[in-house]
Amino acid sequence: MTSARTRDRLIKRLQSGGIVNPEVLERIRNVPRHLFVDEALASRAYEDTALPIGHGQTISQPYVVARMTEALIGGGPLRKILEVGTGCGYQTTVLAPLVGQIYSIERLAPLLQRARQTLFELGIKNVRFKHGDGLQGWPEEAPFDGILVAAAPATIPQDLVDQLAVDGRMIIPVGGRGGQELLQLTRRKDGTIHRESLCLVSFVPLLEGKIR
Ligand code: SAH
Repeated sequence: MTSARTRDRLIKRLQSGGIVNPEVLERIRNVPRHLFVDEALASRAYEDTALPIGHGQTISQPYVVARMTEALIGGGPLRKILEVGTGCGYQTTVLAPLVGQIYSIERLAPLLQRARQTLFELGIKNVRFKHGDGLQGWPEEAPFDGILVAAAPATIPQDLVDQLAVDGRMIIPVGGRGGQELLQLTRRKDGTIHRESLCLVSFVPLLEGKIR
């Protein structure tokens, strides 16, 4: 179920969906996604689908992780990244070797604890975690060269825009429960924000406050 053939099939599917970055495809092939879900779901870990990870949350669909990662790193080398919505840490793990340092925020303490443990076991060292409300970003570490938001707010959160460096990119799904638009926002030198729509997606909602 975690065989090379199963993973090859997933990579082919991502390629036919338009994912071209070889580093991204390599990461999706090599990251053991079955370690991020319950054993009962491990046989489905290399399907291109979101799966439950408890607490009403889901591990993101591989295609969406690939698309967001490709968009984020497409503008050149990134030193500091903010991730909002660690979840089980799968997206974090795919991204980690492709950037300098990741700052990842999760509002649900049990999920964060499990993600921390999984990334520790995988030997990933360039991630700092925070239990908190990602809507507020991580002002002490701002500005960020890139911001990746893995849950959908109804509108673009201004605090996150304010923490984006000049030429920095934010990849964020925006919209209501029915479906959202994945946006790529770029902060220009004159302070204005360039907005591009990447595709339609379906994320869990970005919620306020943190939960123990
Ligand atoms: N990409 C993740 C899945 C993210 S699911 C993965 O690969 O596993 C979205 C996550 O965002 C959930 O874990 C949810 O608890 C979290 N979340 C929602 N609102 C948040 C907020 N305001 N701050 C931090 N995390 C938030």
